[in-house]
Amino acid sequence: MKFDNYLFDLDNSLLHIPNPSEYFDNILVETLKQLSTKDIPERQDRNKFWFSGNNYLDLLKNWGARDVKNFWKYFDEIDFNNRKILIKKKEVYLFKDVKKALKEINSDGGNKKTAIISNTADYIVEYIVKKFNIESFFDEIFALSFDKDQAFAKPSPMGVHLILKKLNYDPKNSKALMIGDSIVDIYAAGRANIHACLLRRDLNKYPNGYDQWEYQPDYIIGSLDELFEL
Ligand SMILES: [Mg+2]
Repeated sequence: MKFDNYLFDLDNSLLHIPNPSEYFDNILVETLKQLSTKDIPERQDRNKFWFSGNNYLDLLKNWGARDVKNFWKYFDEIDFNNRKILIKKKEVYLFKDVKKALKEINSDGGNKKTAIISNTADYIVEYIVKKFNIESFFDEIFALSFDKDQAFAKPSPMGVHLILKKLNYDPKNSKALMIGDSIVDIYAAGRANIHACLLRRDLNKYPNGYDQWEYQPDYIIGSLDELFEL
């Protein structure tokens, strides 16, 4: 199937993050410490955080965190500092198939549109696309900021809807594909009623099977080289 709109997740889809679930869990723990959380919850409870949507404030309050309205401000600062260090160490980098795929999409005389839809902070995403020289490939970039409504975060489809509107997407005449490595990407696409492609860069990921997910990917690929065979 040929697509007119390609929406990409950033972290662990375009950008390699070493041990992503540990990476983000560590930042969560650091942030909770900064918010004077007395008893840091167990990992199993912490995992619920990433899927809590706009209920994250209640979750943080239940955990005894203070100053919860500034949670994302603290979180993003730690994330940004960590990324800069890991970029220098070459542990955070663009996957080698990224520029080739973006060039291919953009080579179609501007008929195809590309966007990033990320749950990461907007200033971090801006830094990354500039640092790795991929900014010009994208028509639109959607990212979050600590004072933006977290209801826009994936798995909500609101970010997808917002970007598709900016791209003048018309479901009658065009087709859109969301490409991402996580359950939240596939759910956001499913809820926005567009096609979803699960990018399984690490074949050992999701050992328990994504076949249990409420929203299923339409495609599963191991690298972006396979994107144009769909
Ligand atoms: Mg991701």
